[in-house]
Amino acid sequence: CGIIGYIGEREAAEILVDGLKRLEYRGYDSVGVVTEDGRLFIKKGAGKINELKEKLGLAQLPGKRGIGHTRWATHGIPNDVNAHPHTDCTGKIAVVHNGIIENYIELREELERRGHKFKSDTDTEIIAHLIEEELARSKSFEMALRKALLRLKGSFALGIIYTEDRDHLYFVRNESPLVLGIGNNEMFAASDIPAFLPYTNKVVFLDDGEYAIVDKDSFVVKDLETGNIRDKKIHEINWT
Ligand code: GLU
Repeated sequence: CGIIGYIGEREAAEILVDGLKRLEYRGYDSVGVVTEDGRLFIKKGAGKINELKEKLGLAQLPGKRGIGHTRWATHGIPNDVNAHPHTDCTGKIAVVHNGIIENYIELREELERRGHKFKSDTDTEIIAHLIEEELARSKSFEMALRKALLRLKGSFALGIIYTEDRDHLYFVRNESPLVLGIGNNEMFAASDIPAFLPYTNKVVFLDDGEYAIVDKDSFVVKDLETGNIRDKKIHEINWT
């Protein structure tokens, strides 16, 4: 299973699918990609990357920022609907996730009581709906994100995209790996370095309980609990 994110000046979809291919060794049952170009564009399904690239046109979505995902199902069978990304009711927030949300049943019941309609059987989908709810009473997307994430128990690496926040992507790490790749006028995030190594060898390792706000030429990493900025080192990887 794996996550790849891109924000920059090139078309995102091709780079995302390419990155997912380089994460194939981790194993997966489903694949999905989301890009943004005025609205969200999503293609996803159960199957192999090459097959779905042909069948769905995974690499042809428009936009210069986006997130890709390979799923290893833990909650909900491997099928097209349960493939990530997952969206909220408004269709403006999309989330990809590796890991397990342990308290998802109580959160889902709570959200359903308040009128949220779920499309999938995954633990992941509750995250999009939680952020949607917090957004209605928060001053910023970042604040809403933090409040929503603090309700989650379990392991998660997340990639999050919101249509109205056009210059950013958000990534979160808690007991599931996630690294940032720092390019020139472009940024990457992935479960593992090989996903973006053809584009950059400058890497920032996220630690548990941290989230990153990434735009095409800068990034900031913060502590989920407090919202305080974390001082992060950029490592240069010299693999041959
Ligand atoms: N628990 C999530 C699901 O079943 C994510 C699985 C994964 O790590 O890919 O959809």
